[in-house]
Amino acid sequence: MSRIHILDPLVADQIAAGEVVERPASVVKELVENSLDAMATHIDVQIEDGGRQLIAVQDDGLGMDGEDLVLSVRRHATSKIEVLEDLTRSMTLGFRGEALAAISAVSRTHLFSRLRDQAYGFHLVVDGGQIGELVPTPMAEGTLIRVEELFFNVPARLKALKSAHAELGAIQQLLQHYAIGYADVAITLRDGEKILWHTLGNGQVPDVILQLFGSEIADSLLPVQYEQEGLIIQGFVCPAIKNRGTRQGQSLYINRRWVNNWVLRNAIEEAFRPHLPDRRYPYFWLFITVDGSEVDPNAHPTKSEVRLDHERFIAGKLYHAVQASLAANSPSEPLSVAS
Ligand code: ADP
Ligand code: MG
Repeated sequence: MSRIHILDPLVADQIAAGEVVERPASVVKELVENSLDAMATHIDVQIEDGGRQLIAVQDDGLGMDGEDLVLSVRRHATSKIEVLEDLTRSMTLGFRGEALAAISAVSRTHLFSRLRDQAYGFHLVVDGGQIGELVPTPMAEGTLIRVEELFFNVPARLKALKSAHAELGAIQQLLQHYAIGYADVAITLRDGEKILWHTLGNGQVPDVILQLFGSEIADSLLPVQYEQEGLIIQGFVCPAIKNRGTRQGQSLYINRRWVNNWVLRNAIEEAFRPHLPDRRYPYFWLFITVDGSEVDPNAHPTKSEVRLDHERFIAGKLYHAVQASLAANSPSEPLSVAS
């Protein structure tokens, strides 16, 4: 008898899900990216028990019809690209068609969606990857995804989760990057019924920063503006020192996609060096715009690490842009360390 067998598709999906769905914050990331791709103007995120009991994301975006709703939870089902070349042109956050399949393989997921201009919507339950019946339902236009009992069928993942407080903290931090990156979208975060924060969606990045970080930070923002040869760098830095023992309050975007890039981050921190004491991290929210063909977002499963052409060159420009902004606004007195 052969020792090799093809994995049951449900098991294969659960394993593949591990790449995308590591913890509740990764579910929030994927669902919010889908809402943004669907051009939502309002996104409501509700968390219960740090995401263990419930992660619900509701939007007022384009919605899906019944047929698409069923397709959306299948692997490699996407409306966003058709051929690989589309990736360089695509401005959407998602493109692999894996997230909903992965999430619904490792939870009990309720999907509700109503296509714009349709009279009613549809409800679909996917229980640990088992797709249920499509049921017509009255609802507002847009999409609501309720992810319940995350990892109920993957005990190892469940055990690896941190406290509800820590998981909620990770969700908050992640969502901040999106709230700032999409200041034109009103985003609300709730812990149970309690609103933790919400943004106005008026397109003003400083308003979002005020909402998330308070007036002391918002009052001392310095604008950054650089534009040359197709490279645009804009956004804000903040020389305030309060509570700068962590890297919370740093967001970097390439072509509007929030990214982790230590080369670029180091360049910014280097520019801050003369202005900050040791082991204090600066606040910055910077948007880099380059030609789409210079970025490959397909370098990492979570898509938050991108491959970037001319990375060192851009890092150099970033360093100078931040340095110029800090120098132009440098007070004559050295900054004192606030509490
Ligand atoms: P991807 O985002 O990579 O395409 P997903 O698994 O995240 O893959 O989603 C699959 C498809 O389901 C998307 O391509 C989109 O067509 C649809 N979809 C998912 N979420 C939403 C939403 N909130 N609003 C409208 N359509 C959605
Ligand atoms: Mg997606």
